[in-house]
This record gives sequence, structure tokens and C-alpha cells, in this order.
Amino acid sequence: MARVLNFGAGPAMLPLPVLERAREELLDFAGSGMSVMEVNHRGAEFRTVIESSRARLRELMQVPDDYHVLFLQGGAQMQFSAVPLNLMGERGRADYVDSGAWASKAIDTASRFGQVNVVASSKDTGYRSIPAQESWRRDAQASYLHYTPNETIGGVEFHFIPRSEGVPLVADMSSNILSRPLDVGKFGLIYAGAQKNIGIAGLTVVIVRDDLIGRASKHTPLLLDYKLQADSDSMANTAPTFAWYIAGLVFEWLHEQGGVEAMAVRNERKARTLYGAIESSNFYANPVATECRSRMNVPFTLAEERLDARFLDEAKTAGLAGLKGHRLAGGMRASIYNAMPQEGVDALVEFMREFERRHG
Ligand code: PMP
Repeated sequence: MARVLNFGAGPAMLPLPVLERAREELLDFAGSGMSVMEVNHRGAEFRTVIESSRARLRELMQVPDDYHVLFLQGGAQMQFSAVPLNLMGERGRADYVDSGAWASKAIDTASRFGQVNVVASSKDTGYRSIPAQESWRRDAQASYLHYTPNETIGGVEFHFIPRSEGVPLVADMSSNILSRPLDVGKFGLIYAGAQKNIGIAGLTVVIVRDDLIGRASKHTPLLLDYKLQADSDSMANTAPTFAWYIAGLVFEWLHEQGGVEAMAVRNERKARTLYGAIESSNFYANPVATECRSRMNVPFTLAEERLDARFLDEAKTAGLAGLKGHRLAGGMRASIYNAMPQEGVDALVEFMREFERRHG
């Protein structure tokens, strides 16, 4: 068996111990004589997955008691609709920060439901920086402030928590949740698709302050109403049992590794290694302003675009997969989420140096 180092942005690399445990339990989960994919989602075996995964996530993220943790379906993009439907209220207005492709998609979606005020945008400069908070133009009537802490495509990350000044702060944390300690109490709502730092596609985590539950507009599809989901213990649908189970295993792995504090140290070091290699070469370049470079997704270009295909080809041969940049961005992108070890980044940097030596 030859496992590659997967730098894909999502679905992303999973910790090997998680995959091994899943393999071990695949045919007989918790003595049920069935796989976890076959057990009843309301039965006793699956109940342990629900309870333990939720408790572990609450512990990892230090989620305060007055928040619900929901395990939903529909991906992060379903939350692009659920958030305005639940939180815009009668005024139908919300503030959004436009920091990249995902923020922009969240804005387009929210605009279907009400009046979106873009408080600031870095679009004109190619989404390479985050506009200074002093320049943000807020709507006094907005019901919440939405932002995207990590732009997976552009490789731009907020290294500060915006001041939301009296309204709930809402964050699409799909690509940097669990990557470092976070003061959840500063947020009204956090959501994240699972397929990067939580587990596999099919599951979306929503952490929502209790007072924001039960405010959905009357046109909200039932399954998008946080109240229904909170009241039914995230079991309004048949639960995505396998994805939920994997998330539970990832949370256990994170706990064993030392939690988000340990992840923060590792993630800093990996990012420093990779940006350092890019900075010290004239062959590779990263376009993002230094103070908002992402620790999770590192886009980079080669000096000559004509070498892109060869780079990807040779990388693949070297066991480095998933490095092709997003179609909107071109070039390369290395996603280095929690499951990517330092050795993986070291191997990438070594390959990059060698490629530059031969082709630069
Ligand atoms: N937001 C961000 C920041 C993302 O990175 C992604 C997926 N790459 C999405 C939203 C969309 O997620 P999904 O495919 O789960 O809807």
C-alpha cells in the first residue's frame, strides 16, 4: 500500500489512525454485527457516536453552555441560505465582509433573502488582503455580521476576530475550524463543512448561541430551521451516520494529539516552513499580503505557467497529490490542514527546491 501526501483542499487528508480505526470497525461496529453505516441512526450504538462526538467537540472548542452544537447536512453552502433565513429577522438586513470567492458566494446567496450590505471588499485588488476594520461601512440596521475567517481558494485568513458591535458575529469556518484555540463566546454562530478539518463530506457542524434559535422567517424550509434541528437533536433527517462517526474519530484523534493548542503550534510551523520556502526563492510566489496569509491553504505560482503541468506530474510521481490550484485561481495550492504532518510539508518543500533546481 502506498499512501500519498494529499494536499487537496477538501475532501482532504484524514489522519491515518482514523482510517485504520474505521477499517478495524467497518464490518462490526460496537458489537452490533453491522457496520456503522447500517445501524439505526436512533439506536443505542449510534447514540454513543452522537453523545461522544458532541461532548468531545464541545471540549476541544471550549463551547460555552449557552450554545447548541448541531450536526447537519447540506454542506457549508446550505448554511449560506440557512443563516439569513434564521437570522436576518424582520428587518431583512445583514452585513457581510467580502474577502474572497467563498465570502462572495455567501453574499450572493444571502442577497436572495434580504438586503446585504458589503461592509468592505478586497475584490478590486484580487482578494490579496483584508480591508482594515476602520474602513468597514456598517449598516446600523443589520441583524448580524458575516465573515469568512479563511478563504480556501485565495489563501487569505483573518488573524483577528472582527468587532461586531452589538450584533451576532457569524463565521464560515469551513477551512480553519479546530486549527487553533478560539473564543467561541465572541460568535453568534459558527458553521463549517466537515471535509477539511472535521472529517468527510456529508456533514456540516453549526455552533449557535441559544438566543439565536427560534427566529427563522416563516418561509424557512423546515430542515433549515435551527429550532427544529436543535429540538430534534440534529436528527430531523436520517443522520449521515458514517460522516458523523468519522468526525467523532477525528475529534478523538485531536484530543489525543493535545487538542487545538497543539494543532496551533504544528500549523504555525508547517505554514512557516512552506511560506519560508516560497519567500526564499525567485521561482515560486504567493500573492497574499503577509499579515493575512492562510495557515491552511497556501496558493503559489511558478515563475513560468508553462511548467505547471510538469510540476503537477512530477509531484504526483513523488507521492504529492492534490496540488493543482482552484480553477478560479490557477497555479498551485497546498492545503495543509490538521491531518497534514510536518514531514509532509518538508517533503513538499524538498520537492519544490529540487524542481526549481532542475527547471528554474
Ligand atoms: N466555505 C468555504 C470557506 C469553503 O472552503 C467551502 C468548500 N471548499 C465552502 C464554503 C463550500 O462547502 P460545501 O461544499 O460543503 O458546501
